[in-house]
Amino acid sequence: MVIVLHPSTTPENLAEITRILEKNGCKVCPTYGEFQIILGIVGNTQQIDRSRLLNKKYVEKILSVQEPYKKANRMFHPENTLIEVEGQIIGGNKLTMIAGPCSVESEAQIVSIAREVKASGAGFLRGGAYKPRTSPYSFQGMEEEGLELLKIARKETGLPIVTEIMSVTKLDKFVEDVDIIQVGARNMQNFDLLKALGQTNKPILLKRGLSATFEELLMSAEYIMAGGNENVILCERGIRTFETYTRNTLDLSAVLAIKRLSHLPIIIDPSHAAGKWWMVEALSKAAIAVGADGLIIEVHNDPDNASCDGKQSITPERFTALMDPLRLIAQIDNRTF
Ligand code: PEP
Ligand code: MN
Repeated sequence: MVIVLHPSTTPENLAEITRILEKNGCKVCPTYGEFQIILGIVGNTQQIDRSRLLNKKYVEKILSVQEPYKKANRMFHPENTLIEVEGQIIGGNKLTMIAGPCSVESEAQIVSIAREVKASGAGFLRGGAYKPRTSPYSFQGMEEEGLELLKIARKETGLPIVTEIMSVTKLDKFVEDVDIIQVGARNMQNFDLLKALGQTNKPILLKRGLSATFEELLMSAEYIMAGGNENVILCERGIRTFETYTRNTLDLSAVLAIKRLSHLPIIIDPSHAAGKWWMVEALSKAAIAVGADGLIIEVHNDPDNASCDGKQSITPERFTALMDPLRLIAQIDNRTF
């Protein structure tokens, strides 16, 4: 349920209605807009006497939320959510650029890529330390050592780091060391992990599951938000379809759908969607044109010899050359990189 309050609502009115709703066992989540306050009501709203509330002169209207996700719903929060990470805002007019290798391989590799992507305009460094691989015989990531190398790269460049968490057992370490915690597609519905992330205040990059619907993605965000952590950034990274030429099928309509349904920022990962480096640049341009809040792109200094996902990684040179066209496309909608 959503209650829209009249612009003339006083703090006493707000306290009164909050009291009534809480007495009914509901949680009140206010959003303060420029002119109006909107109350998102979570809990069993069936027993609330709507006509009694509508009799209050400061209650403008009461809306029912049909969707199962509440806190992630745009009805609860009409304005876009802005997430601040180390002085950068995600979800605003300045687009977010996250770049780096699929996995951390050595200090020289991660530091040199970090320097190059930073010089081209990236705002964040990505790099996997714990890798979710289909085969247990494939490279599993440098694990704890990889995290240490990411921290060195951050120290060298100032770029905040984004890396994937695979297990709740590593949560404290990630909260301590990482700027944005990534939840990979394979863990999108690891509900225990999502609940634990909800207890932190770290920004979470939540990737869409391999064949997850928008509603399932938003319900996963809801798990994190229900715990009190509203810093969720969504990521479309392609979904599994009958097509096998590409690794996944990039669903650009996700940006439009999610922006209508939710107030959370959404970025695009063209690398895991395409699985082919030569598609990444054009798909990145399309993602910005369609209104994504940013990109996460795999960049590797030696893609042919990468430990992981070399086929979909672009070189730092290509990444640099991509930034100008992206800036031009962003300008069409008065956005910048
Ligand atoms: C990754 O970002 O390296 C990754 C494994 O992504 P996804 O979870 O989207 O497959
Ligand atoms: Mn990868």
